[in-house]
Amino acid sequence: MIAELVDAGHRSRIFELTARLLAGEEISRPQALALFDLENSADIFDLMAGANRIREHFKGNQIHLCSIVNAKAGACSENCSFCAQSSFYQTGSPKYGFVDPEPVRDAAEEAHRNGVTAVGLVAAWRGLNEGPMLDEVCDRIRELADGGKTRPDASLGIIKSQRVADRLKEAGLECYGHNLESSKRFFPSHCTTHTYEERLQTIHHLKKAGIKICSGGIIGMGETREDRCDLAFALKEIGANVVPINILNPIKGTPFENVPPLPPLEILKTIACFRFILPRREIMIAGGRTVNLRDMQSMVFTAGASALMVGNYLTTLNQSVEKDLQMLKDLGLDPRWDHGFDRQ
Ligand code: SF4
Repeated sequence: MIAELVDAGHRSRIFELTARLLAGEEISRPQALALFDLENSADIFDLMAGANRIREHFKGNQIHLCSIVNAKAGACSENCSFCAQSSFYQTGSPKYGFVDPEPVRDAAEEAHRNGVTAVGLVAAWRGLNEGPMLDEVCDRIRELADGGKTRPDASLGIIKSQRVADRLKEAGLECYGHNLESSKRFFPSHCTTHTYEERLQTIHHLKKAGIKICSGGIIGMGETREDRCDLAFALKEIGANVVPINILNPIKGTPFENVPPLPPLEILKTIACFRFILPRREIMIAGGRTVNLRDMQSMVFTAGASALMVGNYLTTLNQSVEKDLQMLKDLGLDPRWDHGFDRQ
């Protein structure tokens, strides 16, 4: 009887918070932490129902699709414990230098055929400085922008000078991917070759250059629920336009290869909590969804996600774009071919 009353309390609190968010209010950190701590599956489904309403209210029924091209793979100087591309670990992941124009053009064509309008160039390296490599990167961005078929995005690591960010903007870059990855507190548990502050500084330069920010993180690395909550609030504070949520896919050879997977309901609950904290933002489900959520992948939208990374990820395979498009159709959702920045 007491347990039922407690559950009823959770239920009415979730509905009340949902109504407040729909009316334009914001959720506080203690309120959010209480949502992250929900354990009972019925409560989690109530939470997801609220997140679904909030998504529908602020984002409609359109799901933004995004695709990435690995523009420089492997041999990265950084030691991110989840990453197959770090030179610190033996993972058997491919290694190649910055790509020629051809493969980028092919990827843009393929994305266009699939109806995806944004293609992100992703490079596995510490970051980008002024010099010949920046010139080459700008050329690739300009080619994509001039091709007119896909909008160029990029994720090129740490940027230390305003001039670099300005050059990227001048080349036609609209959005830059740079995850905070985790909470400030947990960050040194998965990376010690660069700092959380360097990541914040990079985002500062990009925003000043007028570039939109795609920034999220990875869950399932051994962080606490409080860490996930703090990550979401940090992303709110930096004004991330798109928030990718990756779920750890433990790669053999990395320090995280034996980290136990998060249960699917914990993942869905986390997505729902992010929607409560970031009601108007584009919340995108990125790497790790197929392996971690299996048959429950389609529920990411009823948990509040409004965007999906499609095609193959940097080092792991994803389900086909056709299957993803069918999944959206079956859910009564429409694919959307741009970032929907105007919806924020
Ligand atoms: S996550 Fe990025 S910076 Fe870290 S090791 Fe991988 S490629 Fe390098």
